Amino acid sequence: MKYSQKALNISASPTLAIDSLAKKLKEAGENVIGFGAGEPDFDTPDNIKYAAVSAIVKGYTKYTPVAGISCLKEAVAKYYKENYALDYSPDEVVVSNGAKHSLMNVFFALLNEGDEVLLPSPYWVTYPELIKLAGGKVVVVPTAKESNYKVSGRDLQKYITSKTKALVLNSPSNPSGMVYTYEELREIVELCIQNEIFIISDEIYDKLIYDGKKHISPASFGEKAKELTIIVNGVSKSYAMTGWRIGYTLSNKELAKIMTNLQSHTTSNPNSIAQYAAYEALSGPQESLKKMVQEFAKRRDLIYELVNEIEGLSSIKPQGAFYIWVDLSGVIGKSFEGKVIDSANTFAKLLLENEKVAVVPSEGFGMENHIRLSYATSVQNIKEGLARIKRFVEKLK
Ligand code: PLP
Repeated sequence: MKYSQKALNISASPTLAIDSLAKKLKEAGENVIGFGAGEPDFDTPDNIKYAAVSAIVKGYTKYTPVAGISCLKEAVAKYYKENYALDYSPDEVVVSNGAKHSLMNVFFALLNEGDEVLLPSPYWVTYPELIKLAGGKVVVVPTAKESNYKVSGRDLQKYITSKTKALVLNSPSNPSGMVYTYEELREIVELCIQNEIFIISDEIYDKLIYDGKKHISPASFGEKAKELTIIVNGVSKSYAMTGWRIGYTLSNKELAKIMTNLQSHTTSNPNSIAQYAAYEALSGPQESLKKMVQEFAKRRDLIYELVNEIEGLSSIKPQGAFYIWVDLSGVIGKSFEGKVIDSANTFAKLLLENEKVAVVPSEGFGMENHIRLSYATSVQNIKEGLARIKRFVEKLK
C-alpha cells in the first residue's frame, strides 16, 4: 500500500527517541532526571483556571468565530500595542490551537510548491517539517557559536534566490536561548524589505527574557516591515498553559483572512473555554508571570555556572526562553568505556543509559555536537542532574 509521500517525508520528532528511552527507564523504576521538557514546570495560575471554570458555567461552550472571540483578539492587539507600540486591529489577529497550529496556518497560507524558506540553524525541530508539508523548500542557514548562534544580514544574503519567499526568526530562541538585538534585527529586516521576503517571527518566548533585556519584534521597523512580518505568539510558555492550546498570529489583513479561511475548514475555532482562559491570561494580573520569570532567571544562572564548570563542555549564557545550548566539541572523539562519542546523539544515549540523565541531542535542531537542556525543572534536579553529567564527562578518555 502506498501512503502519502508528503506525510512520509515528515520525520518523527527527534526528541521522542530519547524521551521514550527515558520513559522506559522510569517505568523500570530508575531515577531518571529529565532535561527534555519544552514546557514550564509551574501550574497554570489560578485566575486563569477560574476564568475557564466561569466560561463553562456561563455556557460559553459552543462554536466561536473561526479566528477567535472578539475580546481575546482585542486583548492580543492591546498586548502588542502596550508592549511593543505596534498597531494591529482585531481583524489582523487569528487565534489558533497553539502557536504550532498558527505556524502551520502561516506556512500553508504563504507557500507555493518549491518556494524557499530561510531557516537559521539551530532551529526549533517543527519548522522544517511544517515547511515541507506546505510544499516549501527548507534552506538552512547555519550559524556558529562565534556569532552567538545568530544570523546576520550578510549570512542570509548568500542564500537568497529568486524563489526565496520567507525567513523564520525565533527570538528568544529555542534551542539556543539567544535574543536578537535592535541593530542585528534592523540589518535583517532591511534585507528582507529589499528582497520582498516575508518574516515569520516566532515570539512565543517574548516574555521569558532576562537581565532587563527587552524583546524586539521585526514588525517594529516601519510600515513595510510590519506588512512583511507575520508574528506568531501564544500563551503556552509565558502563562504555563501548554495544554490549553491557544496561539495566535498578527499579520496584514489579507493574510489573516486567508488563514481564517484555511482554519475554517481544518479545525474551525480554537477551544472556546481555553480562549476565555487566554483572555484572562493576557488581560488579568501579571504577578505569576513575573514570579516565573524570576525563578527561570535564577535557574538559568545556576545551570550556566554548573555546565561551564565541567571540563570539555561550554555554553553561552542564555538570554531568554528556558533552554541552555551546550557545546560538546571538547568531548567529541573521546570514549566512554571503549565506546567512541562520535555525535551528540551518542553522547545523549550513553549519558541516559549510564547516569540516567535525559538531554536532547542537537541533530534534530540542524546542528552537530551540542545538546539542549531545559531548565524548566527544579533547582534540586538541576544540581543533581549536572553532578551526574560531570561524573559522566570525567569518565571520558
Ligand atoms: N515555537 C517554539 C519556538 C516552541 O518552542 C514551541 C513549543 O515548544 C512552539 C512554537 C509551540 O507552542 P504551542 O504549544 O503554543 O503550540
